[in-house]
Amino acid sequence: MYDIQQIRTDFPILNRTVYGKPLVYLDNGATTQKPRQVVETIMGEYYNTNANVHRGVHFLSQQATELHESSRETVRRFINARSTNEIVFTRGTTESINLLAATFCQSQMQAGDEVIISTMEHHSNIVPWQLQAMQRGIVLRVIPMDDEGNLLQDEYEHLFSPKTKLVSIAHVSNVLGTVNPVREMIAAAHAHGVPVLVDGAQSIPHMPVDVQALDADFYVFSGHKVYGPTGVGVLYGKEDLLDKLPPYQGGGEMIQHVSFERTTFNELPFKFEAGTPDYIGTTGLAKALDYVSALGMDVIAAYEHELTQYALRRLEEIPDMRIFGQAPERGGVISFLVGRIHHFDMGTLLDRLGIAVRTGHHCAQPLMARLGIEGTVRASFGLYNTKEEVDALVAGIDRVRRMFLNS
Ligand code: PLP
Repeated sequence: MYDIQQIRTDFPILNRTVYGKPLVYLDNGATTQKPRQVVETIMGEYYNTNANVHRGVHFLSQQATELHESSRETVRRFINARSTNEIVFTRGTTESINLLAATFCQSQMQAGDEVIISTMEHHSNIVPWQLQAMQRGIVLRVIPMDDEGNLLQDEYEHLFSPKTKLVSIAHVSNVLGTVNPVREMIAAAHAHGVPVLVDGAQSIPHMPVDVQALDADFYVFSGHKVYGPTGVGVLYGKEDLLDKLPPYQGGGEMIQHVSFERTTFNELPFKFEAGTPDYIGTTGLAKALDYVSALGMDVIAAYEHELTQYALRRLEEIPDMRIFGQAPERGGVISFLVGRIHHFDMGTLLDRLGIAVRTGHHCAQPLMARLGIEGTVRASFGLYNTKEEVDALVAGIDRVRRMFLNS
């Protein structure tokens, strides 16, 4: 039983008003709100257990280390990795991809080698590869998509060449909501002997993810998009693959021994975790994962699916509504434009009604170019959104539409 009203009491921010109107928070694709349990855990650790991890013999340091390392185990369990050696803590999706792009390209690629990405990637899964293209001469190949927002699987197959060294694709598009068939796309890449990185920023909060069932080689996500704190995220990698990669940054916990002549590096996962980790953030993230696990990821997925279907039906009733992304498998992200109303105007006027949506290119300018637009309005749902909030959005859009009709 999904008791939405009870769940909402865990998120105090949902009770606030903006401009005197009840807040309708529909910007979960950008970041999610935090349940009381997460905030209190973070506060509790600062008040009771704060000490630097890994390096202390004293009680507090050992307790903080235990919390930090048990958070790694929580993440392992959440995505069903084989070992905690495969869970590297980072600052978020963006840092995870940058880490992988830098270390993978440095050690596994040569000038002229190719990485396959897709048309619908977030800039965080484009620019790190372009930096490598500038520095090392690697080449980017891009999977095209159809007008509904499905990646063209035949074209994908044709992009592979003996020079292909990695595929890096989003599990769920942050603009179109498309759920890409990553399991099949991973199998196709593996048939060519090519490993796959999956950007899970928009999937981890909304569906069960099992990295072994997907056979993903690398999987990355951000804590703040899954009801956890900002500044902490995860890079999952198969142990044998992570083992082959050099360290990313130097300092702190990533060393085994340092002398001026020669430094040796720590074991996984510490090899990739230079400096004091965000050990409070990792405890907060673990608490967030416990929170969603207690509700059940499959239950959350079913609830959000129904809400999204309802929202799509209601939004399609609005005259001049254009929804971008009509893939058969889609998550709770809805991008749209209404008539000739600029996305920025729509977002600003909705905001005055208390409705928080995102406007613009959503860090996916190449996708905007493919769609032939500059930007969209985007409503994105979380586990606490309701049909009443969808109704408020629909009423708000209609009100703005009428204002523009009469102007
Ligand atoms: N990838 C996707 C698909 C995203 O939606 C986002 C954030 O919107 C990112 C990557 C970047 O996430 P972060 O800014 O948390 O690193």
